[in-house]
Amino acid sequence: RTVSEEKLMVAVRVRPQRADEGPRIVHVVSDKMLVLEEEADSRRDVLRQRRLNDKHYVYDRVFGEGSTQEDVYDAVCAPLVGDTLKGFAGAVFAYGATGAGKTYTMTGLMSRALSHLFASIAESEQPESYEVKMSYIEIYNEIIRDLLNPSAGPLELRDEGGSGAPVVAGLSELKANSAAHVAELLARGDRSRTAEPTHANQHSSRGHALLSVTVSQQVEKGTQRGRLFLIDLAGSERAGLRARRLEGAHINRSLLALGNCIMALSGGARYVNYRDSKLTRLLREVLGGRCRTAMVAHVAPGVAHRDTTRSTLHYAQKASSI
Ligand code: ADP
Ligand code: MG
Repeated sequence: RTVSEEKLMVAVRVRPQRADEGPRIVHVVSDKMLVLEEEADSRRDVLRQRRLNDKHYVYDRVFGEGSTQEDVYDAVCAPLVGDTLKGFAGAVFAYGATGAGKTYTMTGLMSRALSHLFASIAESEQPESYEVKMSYIEIYNEIIRDLLNPSAGPLELRDEGGSGAPVVAGLSELKANSAAHVAELLARGDRSRTAEPTHANQHSSRGHALLSVTVSQQVEKGTQRGRLFLIDLAGSERAGLRARRLEGAHINRSLLALGNCIMALSGGARYVNYRDSKLTRLLREVLGGRCRTAMVAHVAPGVAHRDTTRSTLHYAQKASSI
């Protein structure tokens, strides 16, 4: 199965273990399966108990600690870049708790996707018929900021009537000329992103970063437009029930709404409520199934992260039934 044949491809990436995280409890069994070791219920017969409690998870792809950025790009993102050139829309989400490796993965995907895009255009018969534009925003506490123009202040999301996607009023869409140019724009954008967190409880893990790349091509009948979203989601520890109780109003509305949409879609719901958050409004077209989507859920392998790992694996498994 490839992305192109699936509505939502769900992959899990296990990042390399750090010394302070205790024994490994996530074991990659194959490129589609991993095992999460659970605690034994009783002290007696610990080994047998463990084996009984261990949980197997199956996904479209599992990337182990030895996986490279190239591996993830080739399996998850490259097919979507091909689609974008043909005038389709696509999206890749990075999901997972703070520190699990989302930004690491997305940084790799962003630079590779744009290099691939520019190389394909250069090799095409009419490179000059294409135009590539990008925008880069952060949604933080339901406030949209332009990462390519941070001084602009909060931006408004407007529904432009009809069937079109909502528009972020005043958002800068920059023409991108080369992979190097884009790398420079992204680096600038990342500096204006709310600082990367070092602790799971830091508020900065609540921001979602959305890169949107639009490829327009002049064809005989007019303009063909493809779009790729690469989305580094806020830390998922904010969306759990525990976080909800602890933080009251400070839960991440966009992340919860995204989860609700995905769960509704996976249950085959007729009605899915996209209106609950800025993120789901912006991504309605993508989530609604008219284009291909991939989610890479991220986990750390050590015992110190068992609860967040379990909840991420569970979420990804529910999402994979779409
Ligand atoms: P998140 O964005 O989910 O909070 P990060 O991407 O910032 O997590 O990753 C946390 C740390 O782990 C960073 O120092 C990052 O460089 C490192 N890291 C994450 N994933 C990998 C990986 N696959 N290989 C090597 N280092 C990684
Ligand atoms: Mg991050």
